[in-house]
Amino acid sequence: MPIKLLPAMLANQIAAGEVVERPASVVKELVENSLDAGATEIEIAIEKGGHKRILIRDNGSGIAKDELELALSRHATSKISTLDDLEHIASLGFRGEALASISSVSRLTLTSKPADQDNAWQAHTEGRDQLVQIQPAAHPDGTSIDVEDLFFNTPARRKFLRAEKTEFMHIEEVVKRIALSHFGVQFVLKHNGKTIKRFAKASTDNQQQKRLAQICGNQFSDNLIALNSAYQDIKLDGWVTLSAQENNAQAVNFFYINGRVMRDKLIFHALKQACFEHTGLEQLPDFVLYLHIDPEQIDVNVHPAKHEVRFHQSRIVHDFVYRAMCDAFTQTPETTKSEQH
Ligand code: ADP
Ligand code: MG
Repeated sequence: MPIKLLPAMLANQIAAGEVVERPASVVKELVENSLDAGATEIEIAIEKGGHKRILIRDNGSGIAKDELELALSRHATSKISTLDDLEHIASLGFRGEALASISSVSRLTLTSKPADQDNAWQAHTEGRDQLVQIQPAAHPDGTSIDVEDLFFNTPARRKFLRAEKTEFMHIEEVVKRIALSHFGVQFVLKHNGKTIKRFAKASTDNQQQKRLAQICGNQFSDNLIALNSAYQDIKLDGWVTLSAQENNAQAVNFFYINGRVMRDKLIFHALKQACFEHTGLEQLPDFVLYLHIDPEQIDVNVHPAKHEVRFHQSRIVHDFVYRAMCDAFTQTPETTKSEQH
C-alpha cells in the first residue's frame, strides 16, 4: 500500500485508544478539565455505568462561543503554547487531546457560558461525522459535557466494556482519587438518577477529616499520622497509618505529585522500604500523600494518561520520601492537620 496521511477522524480514534480506555477515563479527563477551568462545583451524572451517558457539569470559566469548535479539535489547548510552558506544567491537562478523542468515539454535546458572555452556546458532534453544529442554548455560567453512546462507532472497543456495575466502580474510584486532591471543590456523583456520593466543599480541618473518612473509611481516618516534611524545595504532606492493615480493611494508596494521582514505582519502593524498616513486613502502608516538587524537576509527559512521571533527581526524591515516612512511623497516631491542598 502507498503511504497516505490518515484522515483526521481515524487519527483521533487511534489517539482515543490511548486516552479513552473506558468510561472512567472519560470521567477523569472531563473532571480534570473542570478543575483546570477553576470550577468549585462539579456534578458527574452517569447512566448505565457510562455505557449510555456521562454528563459532567461545572461552574468553571466556560468556553467562548467562537472557541467551541476549536476545543473539540486535536492539539487544541489553552494551557500551554511553548516548550517552556511544557516544562512548567501547572494544569492537569496540556495535550489538547481529550475532547477530540472522546468526541471521535461518542455523541458529544458541549454546552458552555463564560461569565462575560450573554448567552450559552452548544456544540454537538456525532463520532465519525465530525461536523460540529453550533447553536444557542440555556446554561448557567460554566460548562456541561454530555457524552452519549461511548464507542458506538468503534464496535471492537465497545466489546471491551464491562458490566455497568464494574464500569461504575471504576468511575467511583476516579472521583474519589480526584476528590482527595481537591478538598475545596464540591463533587456530586450520580448513577441512574440517584446520588451515590456527595463530597461537600471541605475548607476546615474537620470538614477535611470528614471527607477523608468518607473516602478512605474510618479504619484509616481514626488512626492517622499527619505528615509534613520538606527537603530543599521538595515537600511531602498528607496522612499515613499502619493500623488499618491489621483489620484487613481495603488498602488506601493515594499518592499525588503536584496534584496529579501517580502510581510511581520509585515512590512505592520508598514507602515499602520505610514500612519494612518499621514493621518488618514487606507491604505498603496505607497513605494519602501529596508530593510537591518544582515542575522543572519532573517530566509528566511520559504517558498519555499521565500516570507516570520521570524525576530528574530520582535518588534524592526516593531517599527524602523514605526518610519522611520513617520519621512519621515513629510518631504516635493523632488526627492533626496537614497542609491545605
Ligand atoms: P487539554 O485539557 O489538554 O487542554 P482537552 O481536549 O481536554 O485538552 O480540552 C481542550 C480545551 O478545551 C482546554 O484547553 C480548555 O481550554 C477547553 N476546555 C475543556 N473543558 C473545559 C471546561 N470544563 N471548562 C472550560 N474550558 C474547557
Ligand atoms: Mg484536558
